[in-house]
Amino acid sequence: MSTYRERANRRTARGNVLRALATRERRSHLSAPRVPTVGIDIGGTKVMAGVVDADGTILERVRTETPDKSKSPKVVEDTIAELVLDLSDRHDVHAVGIGAAGWVDADRSRVLFAPHLAWRNEPLRDSLATRLAVPIMVDNDANTAAWGEWRFGAGRGAEHLVMITLGTGIGGAILEGGRVKRGAFGVAGEFGHMQVVPGGHRCPCGNRGCWEQYSSGNALVREARELAAADSPVAQHILDRVGHQIGDITGPLISELARAGDPMCVELLEDVGRWLGVGIANLAAALDPARFVIGGGVSEADELLIAPARDAFRRQLTGRGYRPEATVVRAELGADAGMVGAADLARLVARRFRRANRRRAERVHRTGFELRLPPRGRAAG
Ligand SMILES: [Zn+2]
Repeated sequence: MSTYRERANRRTARGNVLRALATRERRSHLSAPRVPTVGIDIGGTKVMAGVVDADGTILERVRTETPDKSKSPKVVEDTIAELVLDLSDRHDVHAVGIGAAGWVDADRSRVLFAPHLAWRNEPLRDSLATRLAVPIMVDNDANTAAWGEWRFGAGRGAEHLVMITLGTGIGGAILEGGRVKRGAFGVAGEFGHMQVVPGGHRCPCGNRGCWEQYSSGNALVREARELAAADSPVAQHILDRVGHQIGDITGPLISELARAGDPMCVELLEDVGRWLGVGIANLAAALDPARFVIGGGVSEADELLIAPARDAFRRQLTGRGYRPEATVVRAELGADAGMVGAADLARLVARRFRRANRRRAERVHRTGFELRLPPRGRAAG
């Protein structure tokens, strides 16, 4: 006969959550419970968290600074837990989805590497699931953004979709038949490091001529600064604008000046757009999607970027004239795509009668396991 403690130990939060995850990850978005969840987007500077309902509406959002890279993984975990508990004080939170810039392993339990954080092979899903006692979903931020656009944005209705995120580098994701394609090791969609120019610009990844060296926010800024540093006549306008402080030239400034008709900035965006089109044509040859959705900060330039991308794509596309052509469109959810997508993916693992709760989370944190007392006249939660 086992003691109460032994029985309680067998039913630790960890065991419960892991069993639930194993059965529920196979669920599709059509059968997921229509309950509110929290989506978290961990970027290089900000952590955004929002409560999102089943229609993709953000009910409330909170944000904080990303802990410095020098801080321990525990500090990042504390930050996430506090954001979730804060939101759960005012909302029913049935699951938490996390989109992180970094590599997530194939079963999405560990963050293998995150450039902005101290995470190295970090078992994020299980440690947070134990601590918050609700199901946790972890994914790469490009995957969560693609999912958000597919469910509620520019990707709606596209069964074969490729998302390309132009930020400082290039992020990518592949969706087919309502599933994110993650590859055998979880790191599919790293389009930014396809080589497009043999022997081209050096990339921090160690290779040369990677796509993101030609089509990204960094590429845009690098070219503008080079022209400015050479004191080119075409750069006089932007040089005046930054008071000749070349380091102050940024992607958003280039887009702003391009919209106002500055010829150099228009041309630089055209260049980035053309390279975008070249890469898209390569991806079409390999993956044949129906739609490409272009997101990330650089996509704010809208048609100044996307129109030249479409032209280059059509010129480069293999079998052009003899095949249906994929459409190339700008993302619709903007900076919220990753957070909304993470929340919606979390509904795939959500449990209808389980909600995040500060008192329980603190008890779990204190004792290391969860005591499940018989319910007294209220729903289990
Ligand atoms: Zn590279």
